[in-house]
Amino acid sequence: MEIIANVHLVPGIRGTNVYLLLGASLALVDSGMPGSEEKILEYVRELGREPADVARIVITHHHLDHVGSVAALQERTGAQVLAHPADLPFISGEQPAPAAQGGLMGLVSRLLAPILPSAKPAAVDTTVEDGDHLDLLGGAIVVHVPGHTPGGIALHFPAERLLICGDVIDHRRERLGPPPAAFTVDMAQAHDSLRRLAGLEFDVLCPGHGAPLVGGAGDQLRALVQSLDGPPGL
Ligand SMILES: [Zn+2]
Ligand SMILES: [Zn+2]
Repeated sequence: MEIIANVHLVPGIRGTNVYLLLGASLALVDSGMPGSEEKILEYVRELGREPADVARIVITHHHLDHVGSVAALQERTGAQVLAHPADLPFISGEQPAPAAQGGLMGLVSRLLAPILPSAKPAAVDTTVEDGDHLDLLGGAIVVHVPGHTPGGIALHFPAERLLICGDVIDHRRERLGPPPAAFTVDMAQAHDSLRRLAGLEFDVLCPGHGAPLVGGAGDQLRALVQSLDGPPGL
């Protein structure tokens, strides 16, 4: 599904949004739960391209629904995998992913942990840091957005006025919100990341969950940040 020119949401992926960026070569942002590779590559072929055209996979953060099919896609495409160093030990399997925090979701995820599929460890080829430029679309700038995870990143495309944000901005309930508390390691830090993103110029938002927002997304984020910073009770 085309969101704006050369930016597609891969249809039918379980768990999370997977974005495909078109150019001379292709790039994926995130990969879905384990077992999503077939659907992703089918979509690549539907667009008249080949799996080997996928040159890069950018990981927004280490959560299973985002990295689950990275290893399989790496094998099938030979793509280079890019991620922030602070999430690298969880992607490579060097360290187990931290369990969800408290609350009902924390309890549910602790109960389900032994039976949930785990991600096959993936090798990160290139680490990316805040401020790095990537030659994707008209040019992307990496923004480090810690809080949901330590090494979360967003991609800002000034020419397209586009922000791909992973889970640091939630869009599951038809409105923007902070990331879900149970799966967020440091909410105060996540709020700081939201404030930082609110300072960027963009109109189109591609979140990890929920529908992409085309038009007015920057203004909506600024309204969210104002509500976080507003006096209590308003
Ligand atoms: Zn997440
Ligand atoms: Zn997610």
